Amino acid sequence: MSHRTTIFARSSGGGRAGVALFRISGPSAGEVLDRFCGGRGEPRQARLVSVRLDDGSLLDQGLAIWFPSPASFTGEDVVELHLHGSPAVERRLFEALTEAGLVAAAAGEFTLRAFEAGKLDLAQAEGLADLLEAETEAQRRQALGQLGGRLSKQANDWRAELIKALAFLEAAIDFPDEEDIPQEIAERAMPTLENVLDAMQRAVAASSAGRAIREGTTVAITGPPNVGKSSILNRLAGEDRAIVSERAGTTRDVVAVRLSIADRLVTLLDTAGIHETEDEIEQIGIARAKTAANQADLRIVVADATNPSLARITQAPMTLFVANKIDGRKERLPEGWVGVSATTGAGWAQFEHCLEALLQGEGGASVLTRDRHVELVRGAVAVLERCVAHAHVEPEILANEVSRTLRRLDELVGLVTPDEVLGEIFSSFCIGK
Ligand code: GDP
Ligand code: ZN
Repeated sequence: MSHRTTIFARSSGGGRAGVALFRISGPSAGEVLDRFCGGRGEPRQARLVSVRLDDGSLLDQGLAIWFPSPASFTGEDVVELHLHGSPAVERRLFEALTEAGLVAAAAGEFTLRAFEAGKLDLAQAEGLADLLEAETEAQRRQALGQLGGRLSKQANDWRAELIKALAFLEAAIDFPDEEDIPQEIAERAMPTLENVLDAMQRAVAASSAGRAIREGTTVAITGPPNVGKSSILNRLAGEDRAIVSERAGTTRDVVAVRLSIADRLVTLLDTAGIHETEDEIEQIGIARAKTAANQADLRIVVADATNPSLARITQAPMTLFVANKIDGRKERLPEGWVGVSATTGAGWAQFEHCLEALLQGEGGASVLTRDRHVELVRGAVAVLERCVAHAHVEPEILANEVSRTLRRLDELVGLVTPDEVLGEIFSSFCIGK
């Protein structure tokens, strides 16, 4: 007997819209159709309905779709109503549903119910959350892969291998204690453990690329005042986001602009020109600029190309050296500088090419995309390293360690995941999903 509530939410974006999608999930979803829409209709078929309140008055007309359990997103009885997207329709519908004993869904509650019904595992639910947030092509592709089970399949493959290894160890434990036979059997687990260890280490090594796609890359534009940092940011962003001025010290705080470069989500930071100053507010801006530049994933260091003393630069990691105002320079640039003009656009294609190469250097999609994944797999790696290094200890001890590794993989896909972790993941969804 289920005591679950029946929940409702608007699943399409808020505010006014031509059509809004309202979703209802739970044991009394079908009764909502009976009571307000004149019946349920054929499962999974859109039906034009008049939504009527209990006094017979018309609330709205629209489409209703009935998804009886278990063939629905949540696995429960689900109803979708496609009504007109006005605040008044939404308010009146929610009042009627609340009167009928339904409750407003919490953020991520539909997906949580789908997870609990086994419709998707935790890694897939995270992929869904990422897909809903995806701004760039790379994010969309990575999220779709995870929603499609890329990480889940990897975790399950590792689990299957570890279970094979565990079988050898357990056979060794059960073996009557004669001569060296148990040890020989136990050793057969080692190649498998080494393979899984190797694959996990590679996945961890590749994970920073996946996280860079998911979380985006921060690029700080730094350099002395008046060299054209704000002009470069504006040209990259394709619009005027930072103040450009002939007066030095105009950009006093860090300006952040989010944009997509070479499919990557990039947060560009325009910083105050770094120089000596007596102005206290400017000093704060400069301190913030230095912090932003240090913490950024990549740096664009800008100098004035018309400055004849432009030095030959030495390589710095994850840094692009840009000599701006190339329109005012006659002599060749010293080696290492990319010459551009934020005003005329000269050299711009080459500059974008170098920037894209730096961003791509951060790598492609990976199976581990969140800190949570990396921490769990790192933990598993540490345990397996111990097992491989101490291959001759008692099989009981090894079996125990391998079981611990298995539990981490279970946690990765949500088979045994602490409630706080689940709460954190599902509450990051929007309402209605
Ligand atoms: P910031 O202080 O480094 O952010 O520099 P700004 O972007 O505010 O630019 C400072 C001054 O340099 C402004 O007067 C800009 O119009 C000018 N400037 C920026 N880029 C160029 C360029 O490529 N060529 C020329 N000639 N002037 C530029
Ligand atoms: Zn500026």
